[in-house]
Amino acid sequence: KDGVYLEIQTTLYDKNDHLIFVRDVTRLHLLEQMRKDFVANASHELKTPLTVIKGYLETLELFKDSLPASMQKGIVNMSEQSERMEQLIEDLLLLSRLESDDKREENQWYKVTDLINAITKVTNLILTDKHKVTLDIPSDARLYGSYKELYSAFSNLVVNAVKYSPDGGDILIKWENNEFNGVFSVKDNGIGIEPRYIPRLTERFFRVDKGRGSKTGGTGLGLAIVKHVLLHHDAKLQIRSQPGFGSTFSCHFPAHRTRTDTIPAITSNN
Ligand code: ADP
Repeated sequence: KDGVYLEIQTTLYDKNDHLIFVRDVTRLHLLEQMRKDFVANASHELKTPLTVIKGYLETLELFKDSLPASMQKGIVNMSEQSERMEQLIEDLLLLSRLESDDKREENQWYKVTDLINAITKVTNLILTDKHKVTLDIPSDARLYGSYKELYSAFSNLVVNAVKYSPDGGDILIKWENNEFNGVFSVKDNGIGIEPRYIPRLTERFFRVDKGRGSKTGGTGLGLAIVKHVLLHHDAKLQIRSQPGFGSTFSCHFPAHRTRTDTIPAITSNN
């Protein structure tokens, strides 16, 4: 852990010779570790004062009706913003956990339908009749991984499809198996994304429309979480989108995580 970190690169020099480049990246590695520790500690430290603020807000809400309208509005606003802050802290802590290799979640086999049903149940508030959601997931689809992590990744994709498409929009949540992959995808017919932004979407806090954050309520960390969860599951994220027509986010899992013929025992977890 405290050793020297080297980056080694080889290139073909001419027919028979290779050039080998060796770079000492120990300092870079240490700085990166300091950044990760700082984010994890800061997020953790922010939790305590926020819990106190939320506690007092809950008490204030009990007396809301006897207060002037302007104060009532203020209380609603403060509650919404503290919920947002809580979500932000939770997302930062989750990202820190995903980045630290020593705190890995246990892997198990899951039924994809169990996972998706749990997500659509919890997100029911926003998956109201405003959107037409279609599930196309074979009952025998299985996935080997961490339930918690996969739940976060898939729910971020589902919530985004809802957030970035208009009322009445169609959302298709699908699982497909082919010879090499199991593919989970979420398709919407919403606002879409310009091609030049697609490579940046999984960066922390990157948003196509900087002003939308407060309206849509996201933290700007959802797709960064998706990227890290997929890395843990040997999977790849594919984004296809057309501005004005919609987007499809697909997660491609390798056969050893989706092929039912390698399953020792199926565990269903809700
Ligand atoms: P946010 O909390 O802002 O939704 P995400 O990391 O989940 O953060 O997404 C990053 C950005 O990618 C969003 O702000 C939005 O601009 C864009 N985006 C994500 N999903 C979609 C989608 N389904 N349709 C259009 N744009 C999307």
